[in-house]
Amino acid sequence: NPTTSKYHPIDDAVWKQSEKVPYMALARTLSEIENVSARLKTIEILSNFFRSVITLTPCDLLPSVYLCLNKLAPAYEGVELGIAETSLMKAIAQSTGRTIAQIRADAKAVGDLGIVAEQSRSNQKMIFQPSRLTIKGVFDKLKEIAKMTGHASQTKKVEKIQSMFVACRNCEARFLIRSLAGKLRIGLAEQSVLQALALACATTPPGQCYPPEHLNMAKTMSGDAFKERYEQSALILKTTYCECPNYDLIIPIILKEGIRRLPEFCKLTPGIPLKPMLAHPTKGVHEVLQRFEGLKFTCEWKYDGERAQIHVDADGSVSIYSRNQENNTSKYPDIINRLNICKGDSVRSCVIDCEAVAWDKENRQILPFQILSTRKRKDANEDDIKVQVCVFMFDLLYLNGESLVKKPFKERRALLKENFKEVDGQWLFAKFLDTNVMEEVQDFLEESVKGKCEGLMVKTLEEDATYEIAKRSRNWLKLKKDYLEGVGDTLDVVVLGGYLGRGKRTGTYGGFLLACYDNDNEEYQSICKIGTGFSDEALQSHTEFFKNFIISEAKPYYRFDASHEPDHWFDAVQVWEIKCADLSLSPVHRAALGIVDPEKGISLRFPRFVRIREDKGVEDATSAKDVAHMYMNQDQIKDQQKPKIAEE
Ligand code: ATP
Repeated sequence: NPTTSKYHPIDDAVWKQSEKVPYMALARTLSEIENVSARLKTIEILSNFFRSVITLTPCDLLPSVYLCLNKLAPAYEGVELGIAETSLMKAIAQSTGRTIAQIRADAKAVGDLGIVAEQSRSNQKMIFQPSRLTIKGVFDKLKEIAKMTGHASQTKKVEKIQSMFVACRNCEARFLIRSLAGKLRIGLAEQSVLQALALACATTPPGQCYPPEHLNMAKTMSGDAFKERYEQSALILKTTYCECPNYDLIIPIILKEGIRRLPEFCKLTPGIPLKPMLAHPTKGVHEVLQRFEGLKFTCEWKYDGERAQIHVDADGSVSIYSRNQENNTSKYPDIINRLNICKGDSVRSCVIDCEAVAWDKENRQILPFQILSTRKRKDANEDDIKVQVCVFMFDLLYLNGESLVKKPFKERRALLKENFKEVDGQWLFAKFLDTNVMEEVQDFLEESVKGKCEGLMVKTLEEDATYEIAKRSRNWLKLKKDYLEGVGDTLDVVVLGGYLGRGKRTGTYGGFLLACYDNDNEEYQSICKIGTGFSDEALQSHTEFFKNFIISEAKPYYRFDASHEPDHWFDAVQVWEIKCADLSLSPVHRAALGIVDPEKGISLRFPRFVRIREDKGVEDATSAKDVAHMYMNQDQIKDQQKPKIAEE
């Protein structure tokens, strides 16, 4: 940049052994990643950066990983940035001598405040250049900002932001502002960061701790042996992260002991949420019996509430986590206060997997999920709670210092029953039936629907019956009531854009472009347009919501056909649950392209909006593989040799 006299594009990103890592090294890495779309290239770029950090300044690896993920702490600690755009504009304006109106106009035109910040900063002549930003310095300041609360905090936050912003050079401003806004917008998924970390450690094992023979081995191993070792390390790291999603614990162990020893140190621990096991959809009782042929299994009611992973620490502290490892402890003081009446005296520490369901005390029955969603999300006061909940316990994952996840479900369930007891309307075990008779399963399914449940969860009991952390496992099948109505399973899809409404819908969006998520390529693939299932109020509120997420053009990782280009593109921020009549091959939609057909994607016919999935992140949306699976599983596809083609 010619106008900031002391800026050296390379020098600013270079540092020496034991020196603090300059923020520029990270900003340049993120900028490079922004310019590529291939996942392997992204991993390579990031792992090169991690290698340098591990070699030169290992103590900066932790803040480096956090900043790449735009996180400041484990998700369950709830430390979040997401500074309001107006505060960021104010900080940029005050540091660059421009007006907020100018910044706002530029942001509207460019669609990215990060770029506007970078441009505003680079057009500024500096007489005195502050010393360069470091990763550790930026990370600490971001944490301080996130933790500031109270009335005067806005002004203090803007001051802190300004103090960093004036030291930004070149692309540092872009990423600093994006971090503060809560999104890096480079499509870097956590799985890629973990993969890059494993690659960096395989090529440059953390030196201080690795026995020399390991170091030599890494250097002398043949290509195949190296690849195998690297893949094993990546698997160990990803598995550990699912069981113990906390980099504060994982990174120091990697540096001290190496990735391969992680399982000895970072295990399932009460107080740290683990990623839950999920179920595979099925298309009816017939399919369940086919899949579980020869296996012992049980059917449980599938309650429609919110997953609650309840942890009791050895010191007695209790925490409750959501499906996505968010900390819901302060949402459920009522559950916590009555835990002691269901927990046996034998229990010193535990993790139980449950569903918290809205409960009608008078009529002693389950209420729909929609009622539960009206409950206050944080800091609930027990005296003000209007929506009562009953907790349905269905699994025990940890008991008195021992992880139970490797034990078969039959044993886990027996331990659950031995150590916990039911309390009417407060704590109940999930209703179950052990049978492999088709008619009995069908009757139990219908009974569950009458009992106001979503259907059944069918689980293996003895063989292949471990608790598979973070997996949508084939050992758990879900059988939803929708099948009874002949509608098909629901999908969780990401909203990518909006079409402006006409006629009665003028002033709001009249339709939206939806997509599934392809985990392999880390891209969103269009699956359908939707315009039904919305009330006028709902359209109004979706329009209000997405107003804050409009971007000027589609992200490089959005896959769609030009004929479906929406009027406004959105950042991928929200997941919607939708129903459809069926799935068909489509020449224009891109979902699961190349999986079922080399040239056609899959689209949904007659999609209808069901609800917003607040509990799902965009990368938890229905995957391209799931879409392909659902398509292939349709009776008409199974029956016919030739796939049905969409009428588009
Ligand atoms: P959905 O089907 O709504 O998309 P999901 O994708 O969040 O759900 P699934 O694997 O499909 O997860 O269904 C499992 C969910 O069902 C669990 O996360 C849990 O919240 C809920 N659930 C209700 N009853 C049970 C039960 N008896 N056993 C396991 N999970 C249950």
